[in-house]
Amino acid sequence: MSVILVTGGTGLVGKGIQYAIETEPEGSRFGKQPGEKWIFASSSEADLRDLEQTKKLFEKYKPTHVIHLAALVGGLFKNMKYKMTFLRDNMLINDNVLHTSHLTGVKKVVSCLSTCVYPDKVEYPLDETKIHLGLPHDSNFGYAHAKRMVDVANHAYKDQYGSNFTSAIPTNVFGPYDNYDLEGAHVIPALVHRCYLAKKNGTPFIVGGTGKPLRQFIYSRDLGKLFIWQLREYDDVEPVILSVGEDEEISIKEVTDAIVKAMDFKGEYSFDTTRADGQFRKPASNKKLLNLMGGFEFTPFDKALDESVKWFVQNYDSART
Ligand code: NDP
Repeated sequence: MSVILVTGGTGLVGKGIQYAIETEPEGSRFGKQPGEKWIFASSSEADLRDLEQTKKLFEKYKPTHVIHLAALVGGLFKNMKYKMTFLRDNMLINDNVLHTSHLTGVKKVVSCLSTCVYPDKVEYPLDETKIHLGLPHDSNFGYAHAKRMVDVANHAYKDQYGSNFTSAIPTNVFGPYDNYDLEGAHVIPALVHRCYLAKKNGTPFIVGGTGKPLRQFIYSRDLGKLFIWQLREYDDVEPVILSVGEDEEISIKEVTDAIVKAMDFKGEYSFDTTRADGQFRKPASNKKLLNLMGGFEFTPFDKALDESVKWFVQNYDSART
């Protein structure tokens, strides 16, 4: 019997994993296997910044495998304002989860990094070898260093104890159960929420910047399957970038057009080009992933976005806004 504990299991990425486990055929590559028990934990069950609460959670479920997603996450503004909180909370959460996994003999841990932790000055495309090759961007210095230490710890656990701890590096994630809080949200949920309000209030939908920057977006329900693959089929300490390909970059304008369509927004829609754009592109390679998996069928962006927008509209009252 395997018990898989997903920390941060109630967030955007955790819900993507849960969706695959509950909807893919039992026994299939991404479906639930016979004898598997999946636990999707939230912070209300244990505050993982606290070692005692972390230990109690592990005592309760006795996990044999862990997918570690729990983290203090946030957009640019929050990251800049609370650097020390992002550094300390994430260092504590990661240390408590890895240390307790080690003490209790967990067979495998897949932790979650992010392409945001890469060096600010780096040669593109990003790949799995470049995480530590320079300082992260000053805006998310605390978050980035805490996350990078997970990769350092994974190597140290392997070298000292032979542990099977590894990590995943997703690009920008979107999907049902995202954080739509206008202050702290990432680009897709923020635009979805603002388009929703423009439609509801009959006001113009104005998007900051030129709409030209390109990004790689991964649907949380696709990412869920990739985490399940990594847990079951990948046994190496080095991280794997979980993303659509570099040739599937999407401009912010394309994202916004898709939101307008999915929301059936008929009002005025324009770009405020006086607002800063951010980096033009920061492509990441998914070659390692596709070579290892032997290919993967990603959900077309428009379909994934349409499902996410419909979810938001139907769940507006309970969504994180
Ligand atoms: P969410 O904010 O949607 O979910 C965060 C999860 O972590 C929630 O289940 C939350 O529980 C839990 N959590 C937060 N703090 C604590 C704590 N102190 N103790 C226990 N649990 C806690 O985030 P995502 O799903 O987007 O992020 C999951 C992982 O993916 C993170 O590690 C993040 O860094 C990474 N990532 C996300 C990307 C994105 O675009 N969203 C991109 C790349 C990486 P609760 O709901 O109870 O508060």
